[in-house]
Parts: sequence; structure tokens; C-alpha cells
Amino acid sequence: MRLPKDFDFTQSNLQDYVDCPYRFYLRYGLRLKWPALLVDEALQFEQHGQLGARFHQLVQQYLLEIPQDRLDALVAADPDPKMQIWWENFVNHVPDKLGGDKFVETILTSDLAGQRLTAKYDLILVSDTADWIIFDWKTTQKRPRVDWLLSRVQTRLYRMLLIQAGPTLIKDSEISPEEITMNYWFAAFPEALVSLPYDQTQYEIDQAYLTGLISEIQDLQPEGFAKTNDINQCRFCVYRSHCDRGVEAGSLTDFEDFGLESEDFELEIDFEDIAEISF
Ligand code: SF4
Repeated sequence: MRLPKDFDFTQSNLQDYVDCPYRFYLRYGLRLKWPALLVDEALQFEQHGQLGARFHQLVQQYLLEIPQDRLDALVAADPDPKMQIWWENFVNHVPDKLGGDKFVETILTSDLAGQRLTAKYDLILVSDTADWIIFDWKTTQKRPRVDWLLSRVQTRLYRMLLIQAGPTLIKDSEISPEEITMNYWFAAFPEALVSLPYDQTQYEIDQAYLTGLISEIQDLQPEGFAKTNDINQCRFCVYRSHCDRGVEAGSLTDFEDFGLESEDFELEIDFEDIAEISF
């Protein structure tokens, strides 16, 4: 399939392809908008997504050294009581893990199979012991299994891309896979940090896997993008009425919002206004 010249492969669109090739084709090939709701409780879904996006912005501001008392005031003013819990979990469990040089909300790009590959990292930490640690903040309602996390495109892409593009951050000559760890931290489960180390073998496997995915997408004709056989994927897919896979959305309690990015939810907060909040 011919992709637009400015198309970047990301964890999100590659995961779409893995979950359902036809969804990838509709979304990125045809750019088809479809109005079906992602889950039954659309309003709560939207609110949960926006809460997660606000939390990500708070953490970003914290890491950029906005004084904590200002952020505490924002948290206190937040309409959702979950924010207070997540924020306390963050300040009580995460900062002591962050010694070293920080690269906050950093975008890295590289070429693979003749296409641009992009990833946006919540935090890349070059620790005091010169290890490279990727932090990803998750506001999911469930804590996924480690084997599921290891299989996600995000885990495979973020670690691989850091090897290829990370040296540009500090003009280092190279990063070895063994120096990299990916940490998933779950705001609702603060003590359950999931640390996923890397090695040369897995790096080569990931490189081959992602190269294969990108090449496969490029080589497929439109009719080759098959609908998934996993009907569970359809329960939370906006195209299900288009595909005749049911018009009713799945339930929010069953939905795993792991792959959604904070950018998927519009925010009305302008953090430039932080200074204007009265204390
Ligand atoms: S409804 Fe199912 S088959 Fe259709 S695009 Fe979505 S996941 Fe694929």
C-alpha cells in the first residue's frame, strides 16, 4: 500500500495493524472517519482519558521543575478525586527513582525498511550509573501481565528505537541493548513498577519483527488487509458497524486503554496559566 509521504510509523498505528490489518487500512489508508463509540460508557471513557492526559501533563511539569506547591494546587482543584490519589502515588513512589539526566516528553525518530519510525517517550533517564531507563506512565484501570507488556509494539519499538536514535541526545557514540530498561509505572498501582530489561538477542528479534511489519504493510494490496478473526478487538473498535461486527460497544470495565496516548484526548487546561492560579 502506498502511504502518504509524511506518514510516520508509530507504536499506535503498528499496534493497530497487529490487532487488525483492516482497521489499519481504514484508518491510515482510507483515512475513514466513523462515528461508532469506542465503549458503551462513552462519557466516562472520555472523562477517564482526559484525566489521564491531565495527569501526564502534571508529571511533565513536575519533571520540568515547576514548583511542586503549584502542581499540588492544580491537583487540589481537579474535579476528579482520582487525580489526588494518582498524584500522591507519584510523588511518594517515583521521584527517588529519577536520579540522572532527564529527557522529558522526548521524540526520537529513525528509519526502518525505508520508512520513518517515531516514538514519543514520557521520560528517558540516563541514570547516574549511565544506564538508559525509559519511563512510561500508565493510567489504565487494570495492571497488565508482564508477558502481555513484552508483546506490545510499544515495548518492542521504544527499546529498539532508543538504541538507534538515543545517542543523538547526549552525542554518545552508541548505546548497547544491555544498558536499556523500560519501566512501566501504573498510577493506580504505585508499588508495582514493571521493569523490562533488554539484550542484544531481543534487539535483533525486535528489529526483524518491526522491519517485517513495515515491509508487509508496504507490500500489501488494499484487498490484503484482512479483518481480524479476534472478535474481541471489534467490541472496542469504532468501525464495528462498518464491518458488520455489531453496533453495540463493549463495556468500559472490560476495555483496556493501554494503547491510547494522552494526545488522543483534548485538554482544555493551559499550563501556561499555572502562575495565575491563586494560592
Ligand atoms: S470492527 Fe473488527 S474487523 Fe472491523 S476494523 Fe474494527 S477490529 Fe477490524
